[in-house]
Amino acid sequence: MSFRAPVSEYQFILNSVVGLDQVVATEMFSDATEDVSSAILTEAAKLCDEVLAPLQRSGDLEPARLENGIVRTSPGFVDGYRAIAEGGWIGISASPEYGGMGLPVALATAVNEMISGACLSLQLAPLMSQGQIEALEHHASDAIKALYLPKLVSGEWTGTMNLTEPQAGSDVGALRTTALPCEDGTYAITGQKIYISWGDHDVAENICHLVLARLPDSAAGTKGISLFLVPKRLPEANGDAGAANSLSVVSLEHKMGLHGSPTAVMQFDGATGWLVGEPNKGMATMFTMMNNARLGVGCQGIGVAEAAFQHALAHAMERKQGRTGVPGDGAIVDHADVRRMLMTMKADMFAARAIALSCAVATDMHTATQDTDWAARAAFLTPIAKAFGSYTGICVADTGIQVHGGMGFIEETGAAQFARDVRVTAIYEGTNGIQAMDLVGRKLMDGGEMANRLLDEIEDFAERARTKLPDLAEAVWQSSESLREATDWMVSQTDMNERFAGADPYLRAFAGVLGAHHHLVAALSAPSKPRETLARFYILRRLPEYVGLLVHAQAGASGLFAISADDLKA
Ligand SMILES: Cc1cc2nc3c(=O)[nH]c(=O)nc-3n(C[C@H](O)[C@H](O)[C@H](O)COP(=O)(O)OP(=O)(O)OC[C@H]3O[C@@H](n4cnc5c(N)ncnc54)[C@H](O)[C@@H]3O)c2cc1C
Repeated sequence: MSFRAPVSEYQFILNSVVGLDQVVATEMFSDATEDVSSAILTEAAKLCDEVLAPLQRSGDLEPARLENGIVRTSPGFVDGYRAIAEGGWIGISASPEYGGMGLPVALATAVNEMISGACLSLQLAPLMSQGQIEALEHHASDAIKALYLPKLVSGEWTGTMNLTEPQAGSDVGALRTTALPCEDGTYAITGQKIYISWGDHDVAENICHLVLARLPDSAAGTKGISLFLVPKRLPEANGDAGAANSLSVVSLEHKMGLHGSPTAVMQFDGATGWLVGEPNKGMATMFTMMNNARLGVGCQGIGVAEAAFQHALAHAMERKQGRTGVPGDGAIVDHADVRRMLMTMKADMFAARAIALSCAVATDMHTATQDTDWAARAAFLTPIAKAFGSYTGICVADTGIQVHGGMGFIEETGAAQFARDVRVTAIYEGTNGIQAMDLVGRKLMDGGEMANRLLDEIEDFAERARTKLPDLAEAVWQSSESLREATDWMVSQTDMNERFAGADPYLRAFAGVLGAHHHLVAALSAPSKPRETLARFYILRRLPEYVGLLVHAQAGASGLFAISADDLKA
């Protein structure tokens, strides 16, 4: 399917909206100049447009399959994966010590997004490896790092994350997989994990599973969980992939979308594993991987949104129906309602992309400076980037179907695939409900300090924008004040259920206001008619919808529980 990675859009947002220049000004990332990032984005775009996008349909039509215990991936995926690995894209932000490029996460985020837009199913494989690379860089022993990281960075081996079990989904603390210490310092891992993305495949010679499991006599819940590295094939002394470990693929899931990504039920039968990080600290260790993956999943949503938007726009410019209210060739793109849909898709996509890239910039600033304020900012923005990126992907893909009319409902058009593929991004890596609870729970534990700091920045900028774009500046300023009130309300609720009842609308409203701020910055930093028109559309038409969610956010829990679950049946 035809896809063009929006290189100039990434460049604009990185350089003129979210402040990549701060990152480049640090010693650690001083090599990532505008020229370098431009070359990186252009090169990655070529791979996406020419090599990966053509695989997107084959992944859907010819899903990965399990044959005699081995997973065979969709046609073209082996070569597609090899092209990603050989281009060095898996290790784009990994340490050069292990073969990585050592570039900012902000650039990796843009590249990941464009690969997702080209072929989401395939992109999930390197995303899993990237998360594992980061977790091992931070927490593994030197011996594990030396053995595994070069293979993962080069793409010779891939990584997975194994948390979920039938009784332990969102409630990871309920997991039962066990790890028995062996005399040689390894552990015997036994248990079943479900929904494991790229749990098996034929694109690389070894698969490294990061598995959450319990040591004997460990505490109940998340406090008794440890993390283990369990390779499919045990490494030889020289580092080559050797004998098979005691693990197998039980089955592959039949999914509504994302067919090219093999989602496996994995059985571990006393498989040999190595402890990563400290005993019983597995959740904290795994969170390094999960935070990376959460931002990555938000970007998956935005990447698919981009592809769905391009598809819908192309259709709208071709298809002629009825008389439009403006001069033109009669294509449906000139109907006001179709314009509304396309503008909504484009404006929301910009907002979600700017939020994700600003989160990545905060991550890079923390890495480069070790300033904990940047870490707090990245932590605050991560659930918003994940949930809003995936939510935007779902809404844009759905609107893309509507733009196609009846053809959107017909599989051959391809519009439906975007909606089917992207749906899971609101579910995995912690459902969007769990992300929202994280935002109003853990991320407001500071009494709303980080939230209010972001709102201060938004209002400061709006004040400065008043002379040039007074109506837009006022609307952004007002929305920030409304969000501040809602934040104060959230912080004042000591019963967490009151917060949780409005967590999802609060998160979406926060994203809406952040998006409006980024649109205002864009309209001012590169004055042009399209930028200002898009900002005007978003701030005056979309923003009131997002701010409207704040009523729901502050409505509390009692109205949800005033009737019983049984009454819902009536
Ligand atoms: C295609 C696919 C790929 C996946 N890949 C992986 C992978 O590679 N590795 C891995 O370990 N897992 C993976 N998963 C699992 C995924 O992370 C879980 O499905 C997800 O975390 C939700 O768990 P669950 O399915 O058990 O849903 P449940 O936990 O049963 O949730 C059902 C609903 O209840 C809500 N809910 C649950 N608990 C709470 C709560 N405390 N408060 C409020 N609401 C709550 C949820 O938000 C959701 O809406 C994958 C799943 C899919 C579908």
